[in-house]
Amino acid sequence: MAKKALIIGVTSQDGSFLADLLISKGYEVIGTIRRTSSFYRENISHLYGKIKIEVADLIDPESLNRVIKKYQPDEVYNIAAQAVPADSWSTPIYTAEVTGLGIVRVLEAVKNFSPHSRVYQATSREVFGNIKAEVATEETPFDANNPYGISKAYAHMMVRCYRESYNIFVCGGFLFNHESERRGLQYVSRKISVGVACIKNKVKRPPLNELGEPLIDDNGKLHLGYLDAKRDWGYAKDYVFAMWLMLQQPSPKDYVIGTNTQHSVKDFCQIAFSLVGLNWEDHVISDKSLLRPTEIRELRGDYSLAQKELGWAPTVGFEELVKLMVNSDLKKFTNEKLSTQIDDLLDATFSLQ
Ligand code: NDP
Repeated sequence: MAKKALIIGVTSQDGSFLADLLISKGYEVIGTIRRTSSFYRENISHLYGKIKIEVADLIDPESLNRVIKKYQPDEVYNIAAQAVPADSWSTPIYTAEVTGLGIVRVLEAVKNFSPHSRVYQATSREVFGNIKAEVATEETPFDANNPYGISKAYAHMMVRCYRESYNIFVCGGFLFNHESERRGLQYVSRKISVGVACIKNKVKRPPLNELGEPLIDDNGKLHLGYLDAKRDWGYAKDYVFAMWLMLQQPSPKDYVIGTNTQHSVKDFCQIAFSLVGLNWEDHVISDKSLLRPTEIRELRGDYSLAQKELGWAPTVGFEELVKLMVNSDLKKFTNEKLSTQIDDLLDATFSLQ
C-alpha cells in the first residue's frame, strides 16, 4: 500500500517541491491550505488532481486534529509558518502563535490521534541569529535575535521535548536559506530575479513589494534592504530531499542543511544583472525602509553530519541557482504574459473537496 504523507503548508516553495518529490516516490499526498489565503496558488497549480487538499490552519488545533485523525499519515511535514523574518517585527505575537506554537498543535494531534506518524519540523538557521561563529553544526547554541528566529527556537525545543517525553519520531532540520523559481516575492533572492526580468523586459506594471510599492520605481530602480548581508544559499529542491531523508532513518535526529559557502546580496545582484548584460549598480538601491532592525551574523551551514548519515549534499551551486531563477523569471515576467495573467489565475484555482 502507498505511504501517506501530509504536508502542512503545501502552497509554500518547499511544500510544493516536497509534494513533487513524494508523488514521484509513489506516496499518497495530502496538502493543507488556509481558508483565508489567496486563491492564487501558482506553486501548486500543476499538482491539481494529483494530491488531496484539506483546509487547516496552524492557529486552529481542531483543523489539525481533524486532518491528522482522518488520514493517520505515515509522515507529517510541518512546512507552514509566518516565514518572513523581516515581517516578524511588525507581527511578533502572530509569529509566535504560528511559527512557535503551530508545531505544538501538530505534535499534540499526532500524540493523540496518530502516534505512529513521523514528523518533520522546518527549523531555521535563524535560531543561531547573532552567534559569534563562522560555521554552525547541530551542536551550535541558539542565539536568535528576531521574533521569527525566537519562535523557531521555541518550536525546535518543543520538537526535542516531544521526542524525549513521548517517544514521537520527530526531526528538525536546521535549514539555511534555500531559494528557487518558486520562492515568494517577499524574499530578496526572488525580488532580484523578478527585478532583473522586469527591467530587462521593460515590464510596464511590475509586481508590488511588501510596502505596496512597485518593485521597480519610476526611475527604473530595484529597492532592496541591506546589500552587504551574506547568506548560505542553496536550491530548495535539494533541501526538500533532505527533509524526506530525515524521516527515512532508523531513529529521529536533527540535521544542519546548508552549502557551507556564503555570498552577499551584492554578489547575487552582480550575477543576476550580468546574465542579461546589465550592471547591477545602475539598477539597485539600498532602501532604508527595507532594513531589518537587527541583522543576523554571517554563518555557514556545516552539513557534514547530513552527508555522513543521510548521504545528502547540495547539487546546485550559487551561480547556477541565480541563473535558473533569472531565466525562469525572464520567461514569466513579460508584458505579454502579465496581460494574460487573469487566465493563469483562473487556471490556478483549486476546487476544494
Ligand atoms: P513560504 O513563505 O513559501 O510559505 C509559507 C507557508 O506557510 C505557506 O504555505 C503559507 O500558506 C503557510 N502558512 C502561513 N501561515 C499559516 C497558518 N497560520 N496556518 C497554516 N499555514 C500557514 O515558505 P518556504 O517554503 O520558504 O519555507 C518553508 C518552511 O521552512 C517555513 O516554515 C520556513 O520558516 C522554513 N525555512 C525556510 C527557509 C528558506 O530559506 N526558504 C530557511 C529555513 C527555514 P499561504 O499560502 O496560505 O500563505
